[in-house]
Amino acid sequence: MRCPFCDVEAPRPELHAHLTDVHADRVVVEEGMTGRRYFRLDCPLCDDHHKQEIKPRLRDPAFVEEYAREIRVVAFDRFLYHLQFEHEEETSG
Ligand SMILES: [Zn+2]
Ligand SMILES: [Zn+2]
Repeated sequence: MRCPFCDVEAPRPELHAHLTDVHADRVVVEEGMTGRRYFRLDCPLCDDHHKQEIKPRLRDPAFVEEYAREIRVVAFDRFLYHLQFEHEEETSG
């Protein structure tokens, strides 16, 4: 598969690690109107995005930092499914 952010090519598991490590900054924290906070990952190939609410108990900054990586792992895993199903042509090497 090809990384949609930087054109690196790697098998899916390696690409997952690549995304999690190199493109961690693509998962941003977004604050909603109601004060809810979300992790958000935008697809660079279409206007689809993955959004996951940060549970109130996760709002402690230290806690968020500790779990941010795990949340990125899940977000990028779902993103890879999205790439495989929606952008197979663009991302198959
Ligand atoms: Zn990349
Ligand atoms: Zn997309």
